[in-house]
Amino acid sequence: MLQCTAVHPLPPPETLLLVAVRQDAAPNGPVSFLSDHMLCEFGEGHDGSHADLLWETGTLSWETGTLPKGVWARWADSGAVEFVPLPWCGAENETGEWCAVLSEHPPGHKWEVTDPTRTAFAADVIANPEKYGLPPRPPGLG
Ligand SMILES: [Zn+2]
Ligand SMILES: [Zn+2]
Repeated sequence: MLQCTAVHPLPPPETLLLVAVRQDAAPNGPVSFLSDHMLCEFGEGHDGSHADLLWETGTLSWETGTLPKGVWARWADSGAVEFVPLPWCGAENETGEWCAVLSEHPPGHKWEVTDPTRTAFAADVIANPEKYGLPPRPPGLG
């Protein structure tokens, strides 16, 4: 199935900082966004709100039984946005690929949803890193 095409402007940095502090969900490392929009990660035609991952938070702890989570932005068609730390789906397919979409997502695991735009964008970032403020590719990389 194709990916949902819903987009929503990325909230300003001040808002994201408040999310990290208020939800005790600080990013595990530096956070950078490739665009100033969030793209829904679900399969097209889903019910309910749209969602995009903002960053990963938390670490695996065998003592407490906690797992890393994603901080997700979920938005309704009305434009209302909420931020929720949720674990990943974690389902695994027969090739060992695991589903990197939030738990309780609508039908369509990550490997069942195709996003031609994101695929093309990723290919352009790899081919033209300078365009995105990244260091040039080392010579010799195909
Ligand atoms: Zn959506
Ligand atoms: Zn899944």
